[in-house]
Amino acid sequence: MKKLIAGNWKMNGSLAANQALLQELAGGLPPQRRTDVVVCVPAPYLAQFRALAQTLPELSAIDLGAQDVSPHASGAYTGEVGAAMLKEFGCRYVIVGHSERRQYHGETDALVADKAKIALAAGITPIVCIGETLAEREAGRTEEVVKRQLAAVIHTNGHCISEIVVAYEPVWAIGTGKTATPEEAQAVHAVLRAQLKAATDHADRVKILYGGSMNAANAASLLAQPDIDGGLIGGASLKAPDFLTIVAAADA
Ligand code: PEP
Repeated sequence: MKKLIAGNWKMNGSLAANQALLQELAGGLPPQRRTDVVVCVPAPYLAQFRALAQTLPELSAIDLGAQDVSPHASGAYTGEVGAAMLKEFGCRYVIVGHSERRQYHGETDALVADKAKIALAAGITPIVCIGETLAEREAGRTEEVVKRQLAAVIHTNGHCISEIVVAYEPVWAIGTGKTATPEEAQAVHAVLRAQLKAATDHADRVKILYGGSMNAANAASLLAQPDIDGGLIGGASLKAPDFLTIVAAADA
């Protein structure tokens, strides 16, 4: 399966910094690449990406993604951004259910599932984030938690489930510098693959990304695992050389 490397810029960037980063990325990606690459930028910068793509043709090698979407189509939802708006600005992907949104904005499994559904309906691929906290892992509840989170998305999205991307992101590994070992990550990915297989005949084409302090040094060993189909990268996606090294590791 073609791998996918997704950068999550989180709430970072500025017009000047984004332009420099995107120029460096676009210029550094090898033309013969097999891996798909996406950057998920803060919503105000979607327009900047589109504008830059007019003058920087190499940017067409990078897909555009958003970091969240409203579960509502339109209307009186102050502050929210709709799927049709993301589509109009050229988004091909949107992250839903990132642990920072579950944690700081109280997003539930059901809400995350609804966000995945509205993205799919708009023709945008949701990157559905799931993962256990440190307390849950230490209590031996990892499998139960990630299966519950994925089950909600499967339940709401039915036969469309093979169109999603799953990102397994142990919460204790995000932004902490602590990475799941390749074996720990693979064990959870295998559980998720089995759960998808029970839900769809096309589970083998669902990409399951690993996220959580993936970086230039550890990417290759994580990406070598049979059920790790790519990465969702936070901190290291803001440094062009590191992000390009991760893409090269996926391509190897
Ligand atoms: C993320 O934000 O999805 C993430 C994995 O962050 P980091 O790579 O910084 O741990």
